[in-house]
Amino acid sequence: MPPSHSRQRSPLQEFQLIDTLHRRYGRTGPRVVRGIGDDAAVVTALKGHEWVVTTDLVTEGVHFDLTTATCEEIGYKAAVANLSDIAAMGAKPDYLLVSMASPTSRTAADIERLYRGIMRACRPYGVELIGGDTSASLQGLFVNIVLIGSVPAGRALTRDGAQAGHLIYVTGTLGDSLAGLNLLSGRRSLKGSFGAMTRPDQGLVRRHLRPTPRLEIGYTLSTQRLATAAIDLSDGLSGDLRHVCAQSHVGADIDADALPISPALRGYAQRHRIDPLELALQGGEDYELLFTIAPRHRLTVERLGRETACKLSCIGIVRPHRSGVRLKDRSGRMRRLPLLSYRHFRPMPHPRRGGR
Ligand code: ADP
Ligand code: MG
Repeated sequence: MPPSHSRQRSPLQEFQLIDTLHRRYGRTGPRVVRGIGDDAAVVTALKGHEWVVTTDLVTEGVHFDLTTATCEEIGYKAAVANLSDIAAMGAKPDYLLVSMASPTSRTAADIERLYRGIMRACRPYGVELIGGDTSASLQGLFVNIVLIGSVPAGRALTRDGAQAGHLIYVTGTLGDSLAGLNLLSGRRSLKGSFGAMTRPDQGLVRRHLRPTPRLEIGYTLSTQRLATAAIDLSDGLSGDLRHVCAQSHVGADIDADALPISPALRGYAQRHRIDPLELALQGGEDYELLFTIAPRHRLTVERLGRETACKLSCIGIVRPHRSGVRLKDRSGRMRRLPLLSYRHFRPMPHPRRGGR
């Protein structure tokens, strides 16, 4: 769209930026008939496949803070948020479009760093940049990514296929990203303390800034018809599990003892006198996958975990809808699973002292 405000980035700068992006990232394979540079991109559709399309908007002050993260880190994470959605659908990521609105305080070098982060997250999967849009912003940086993936027709993993008796699994470990975020917020107030962070704490921060999208496992779960439902954990287990339960019209029992908690998170929680379970249930932005399988696939799935070197934990079982969503605590008592999800538009989640 043409600018309607005099303070917006001049067309010359915009064209230069697009030109640079085109030269640096615009080389694409034979299936891209037209990439950056025309009015729209044109790609050859894959026979027997369906497109899987997702988008995610990140906003300065809401999703990221330029005092605790670099432009490259922001780009990387914005890309992972989309890659993770594609992983949760059991699809393969193919093409990327990036739209952004940037304030005059951001230099061309900042924008290039942002792209470097985006492409660093995408390149291992062969995702190609095929377009975008560029605008000025009067307040803060906005980055919107559209990611286009594909999956063999009929195989996409949805949220509505879980049935009573199916087993509930998660990849990796939970809560690390939230602890990493808390550590970063602490660094902001105690400037310079990052260097003094212990190795495990640095690992937690890395989990927050550089999460791994679980693409390989997601694609295998869909193409080998192993999973019956899947979701990525972007808002925290306690909330995201509820989405699967609501859409599948089922309940679930989660075993607190089975939740995968990293040694680093245990150490962090102990020092801050927080219950690590609470971080694991609440923690957003882990970008792990939660999926359900029929019990007969248990051994296959556990072998898959070993083969892909991805930790897989069975954390519970799907129940009929009337049971609701419950948590078996360490003493073996069943209680309703509290909703502790990570929410945007509210102050940063802060560790509560004292535990439970
Ligand atoms: P239009 O006026 O149709 O929006 P633009 O001049 O904005 O066209 O875009 C020209 C080309 O550059 C298009 O192919 C578009 O996809 C691409 N492009 C524009 N901005 C970006 C961006 N931020 N990242 C990647 N490609 C971009
Ligand atoms: Mg445009």
